[in-house]
Amino acid sequence: RREQFHKLRDVPALTRDGVEIGLHMNAGLLIDCQHASEVGAQSIGLFRTELQFMVAPSFPRQSQQYSLYKRVLDAVGDIPVTFRTLDIGSDKVLPYMTKVEEENPALGWRAIRIGLDRPGLLRMQLRAMLRAAEGRALRIMFPMVAKVGEFVAAREICLREVEFLRQHDYRTPCELKLGVMVEVPSLLWQLDEICQLVDFLSVGSNDLTQYLFAADRDNKRVSARYDDLSAPNLRALKSIVDAAARYGTPVTLCGEMGGRPLEALALAAIGFRGLSMTPSAIGPVKAAIRAVDLGALRAVLMPMIERLDHSVSIRQELQAFADAN
Ligand code: PEP
Ligand code: MG
Repeated sequence: RREQFHKLRDVPALTRDGVEIGLHMNAGLLIDCQHASEVGAQSIGLFRTELQFMVAPSFPRQSQQYSLYKRVLDAVGDIPVTFRTLDIGSDKVLPYMTKVEEENPALGWRAIRIGLDRPGLLRMQLRAMLRAAEGRALRIMFPMVAKVGEFVAAREICLREVEFLRQHDYRTPCELKLGVMVEVPSLLWQLDEICQLVDFLSVGSNDLTQYLFAADRDNKRVSARYDDLSAPNLRALKSIVDAAARYGTPVTLCGEMGGRPLEALALAAIGFRGLSMTPSAIGPVKAAIRAVDLGALRAVLMPMIERLDHSVSIRQELQAFADAN
């Protein structure tokens, strides 16, 4: 099967009725980036920068951050990389940082919240990214944005860094795109505003689903109870692609869901045209996409999303559809 997926490396992820789905990969370490060409990823859709911080014995200095980002960009060659700023806190703890005692860490001081409260940290990371991408295109996204103002504040910090580098005669990126992760449900009611402000959106379905259902993503006792392929979840996801389409804002999904073939088909059916996943998932997802008639799938899926019938399992119906085709 590996060989069969390898053969698919250079063919596009095109459905039988001619819809192309962009397949991108998630990475967090330099070694992951070698897989980009092996699996034929169109870009690194999510680079989790916190990995470097989690494996380091002490806080990585700006020069170390710079050197990793530069090596990542060099390793992937021409394909774009979307760097995500530090997503620490909650399940991602840094051993050398003073632990903050919180009743509900998943709802606590994490990600962009830390970045905006400790702008020195965020600024240092942004500067490392901007310098590493000198002369190249750079894409940066911010995790756990819960309100439009947080993106505006982060963007301001970033643009100030660009200005600083220019004044000090550094070469800056030739193009800078700034986006947000859609992973906090409050953003679902700020889609019109956020779509007009950002250069792109990336849906973090791992967190979005956890917060939508109020079910810890790592707690099997409750996480298995709520299905990614259920009407409420698919409605929420569809509202994001619909809004993005209204404003022409590029949107991808980078949660684990996108790397599971059946889920990937459902996401394509509700309108996603870009998915970012773990590298080993690209082959199987591409095979599933190439085997499907998206129009026929939509005809089966859409009524189930629109008219919620709690006795029907969307997952089972989709599986039956995929097996029959
Ligand atoms: C997500 O939340 O879906 C996501 C991609 O980010 P992470 O898994 O790193 O929280
Ligand atoms: Mg997340």
